[in-house]
Amino acid sequence: MQLFVKSTEATQVVEVSAATTVEEIKAQLAVAADLYFAGACLEDEMTVAQCQLQDNSTIECVVPLEGGKGKKKKKKIFTKAKKPIHRHKNIKMRVLKFYKIEGDGDDVKVTHERTECPHPKCGAGVFMAAHKNRQTCGKCSLTYVKK
Ligand SMILES: [Zn+2]
Repeated sequence: MQLFVKSTEATQVVEVSAATTVEEIKAQLAVAADLYFAGACLEDEMTVAQCQLQDNSTIECVVPLEGGKGKKKKKKIFTKAKKPIHRHKNIKMRVLKFYKIEGDGDDVKVTHERTECPHPKCGAGVFMAAHKNRQTCGKCSLTYVKK
């Protein structure tokens, strides 16, 4: 009897007997593939009769995808310690830290710790942010890099 082996490219006809094993059918095919009949994968050691294949039955031929073989993404190896990401720390009443209060009673002197921006657009009342290595003005983005 004959069986039809349907693949994505073509349908092949294979000549079998009831005792022919799936392995033998596979050997007749040009490609290494898995065979399916009625949605079930056919095991190599099963015979045509065991698979309940009949004359002119059509079995599906599915070539296993080569997916990933050799294309596997290389795992990145980190040699340096991970740089900690910058996180904004919220400090309550942070603005109080900008002022220095000296003396007490009637003799209180309040001084602002931050530099006022010298830019003509800003001037008095606009203070520059003190970063680790620079001072910046939030209004005109003037930057002084500390040496
Ligand atoms: Zn400014």
